[in-house]
Amino acid sequence: FKFITWVYKKNLMEFSIISEMFEKMEKTTKRIELTDILVELLKKTPKKIIPIVVYLLQGIIRPNFEGVELGIAEKLAIRAISKSVGLSIKKIEDDYKKGGDLGITASNMLKLKTQTTFTEQKITVERVYETLFKIAKLEGKGSQDLKMKYISSLLNDATPLEAKFVLKILLGTLRLGVAENTVMDALAIAFTGKKENKMQIENAYNVSSDLGKVSLIVATDGIDEIKKFKISMFSPIRPMLADRIQSEEDAIKKMPELFAAEYKLDGERVQIHKLANKIILFSRRLENITEYYPDIVENVEKSLNVDEGVFEAEIVPINENSGEFLPFQELMHRRRKYKLEKAVSEYPITVNFFDVLYFDKKDCLNLKYSERRKILEKLVNEDNFSKLVPMLLVKNENEIEDFLENSINSGCEGLMLKILDAPYRAGARGSNWLKLKREYRNELGDSLDLIVIGGYFGRGRRTGLYGTLLLGTYNPENDNFHSVCKVGTGFTDESLDQLYQILSNKVTLKKNSRIVSEMEADVWFEPELVLEIVASEITLSPIHNTGLNLIRKGSGFALRFPKFTGKIRYEKAVEDASTDEEVLTLYKRQSKFSQMKWTFMLEKYDIN
Ligand code: ATP
Repeated sequence: FKFITWVYKKNLMEFSIISEMFEKMEKTTKRIELTDILVELLKKTPKKIIPIVVYLLQGIIRPNFEGVELGIAEKLAIRAISKSVGLSIKKIEDDYKKGGDLGITASNMLKLKTQTTFTEQKITVERVYETLFKIAKLEGKGSQDLKMKYISSLLNDATPLEAKFVLKILLGTLRLGVAENTVMDALAIAFTGKKENKMQIENAYNVSSDLGKVSLIVATDGIDEIKKFKISMFSPIRPMLADRIQSEEDAIKKMPELFAAEYKLDGERVQIHKLANKIILFSRRLENITEYYPDIVENVEKSLNVDEGVFEAEIVPINENSGEFLPFQELMHRRRKYKLEKAVSEYPITVNFFDVLYFDKKDCLNLKYSERRKILEKLVNEDNFSKLVPMLLVKNENEIEDFLENSINSGCEGLMLKILDAPYRAGARGSNWLKLKREYRNELGDSLDLIVIGGYFGRGRRTGLYGTLLLGTYNPENDNFHSVCKVGTGFTDESLDQLYQILSNKVTLKKNSRIVSEMEADVWFEPELVLEIVASEITLSPIHNTGLNLIRKGSGFALRFPKFTGKIRYEKAVEDASTDEEVLTLYKRQSKFSQMKWTFMLEKYDIN
């Protein structure tokens, strides 16, 4: 980060410029308008601090995979505002309860401040960034007080508008509605004059997951340098994802004559970066998860026959005596900082390799699957811990059926079908990989990954816990969450306890403004946790907001008989959860009969 410190001694940019642009962005949801504002902002920004502005736009201070988190609690922010403006905590809390947005509260409170402002020093983007960075790095004794001092000193010099955005960034509640895609459009337009150049920018982003780094190259060296952008170790590659199919028949329709079938293991995806004896592990969401898996670091160093490489594998819990795969949930025991050693020995795992993306300075992304698999087979020395995912070349329904049967019998979810000639398309979901799950054949046809947005206190054995949860889908268009069902089944005593522990830290004073729901709830949560849910049917509903008006005016979708599968999808961000669009697809896929039945029932009982 030294370069950043060095850089901003010379290029100072007033934070008011950013705040005004952010304010404009908050007022529109139109992508074209957002892009225009972004282009203007990027052009006004001194080139060398472009990465800082790009991170701040996304509400972060470093790329997510570095795990630099601000993690400021509301209480601390309230204390800081109080210190800075000299008003009581109660007054600030009251304003917050009314409006539900601490950024706006900070701004309101600053407006009330009677002191004159002419002696104040203008705050710069650089100063704000440096302070945020210092705050993120503080830990241990006395760190809370220091954090508060840093925040209130920024607020002392900030205008009300600046205070609003400083607070939003600190609390992680900045939502400008600018997806990475929009930022990339704007980078292409601002620095290359052509929107089409976004493709090159996107490629670079897909192999680095660091939009700040990519933006600096575009701004200073231009598009030709971006074309030469290379994978670098310890900067994770965005994962390739698969399309779903329903049956062996679908597979034959979509695949070429001969293709690869691999077991679809039910575990946690991991991207392993190895350079000599340094090993870093990234999750599907590209978070650094190295600390949870010291056994992978230890074993993989021996089993990977390579000095430098990037691999993909699935971590699966096993029964050490029989070698059988265990349910994915067992991995949850690993997500802890304390007594990890105990968890490592009590919950053993295997690492099952399925791809190689880079090795010994060679980028493998453009190699065919068949070539990558060959390299993988050479580079992985199989032992009890490290394995290759079982693979078979198949060409007809029977062969798929048999291999699927074997896979399910070994405790896997189904099959991944892969085109032999296809490259690795980082960051893309597409039909070069297809997933065929056994459970697709019944009822709804698929599970949904839903976001916990609200909770209801339980009774009886569930007293003191959340007995029922309100769940929602993600709506990428507006970057918000629509309620879709309440779920109260599928929980064990253990999972209820666990969910209570996780969720009680996410309770908010007021419903988060991104939650769109007409339902009442005992408590509202910060939408951060994703659960896997199955259901018997999707119905039209006047009370939920998912897919509102898509099929019928005034009706959204609801899940009938939803049930928690036991899987907390902690590897999924809320933006990876099921969307309104996906629910619509599942709804349409249901048999005509059930749609007719439901339409009939709705009409008969005048539910609409
Ligand atoms: P799902 O809900 O099915 O896990 P997803 O959205 O996480 O879906 P998909 O691309 O749809 O991701 O499914 C692929 C996932 O399956 C991968 O993320 C990986 O964790 C897992 N997986 C298991 N076995 C394989 C394999 N052989 N090849 C690729 N991915 C595999």
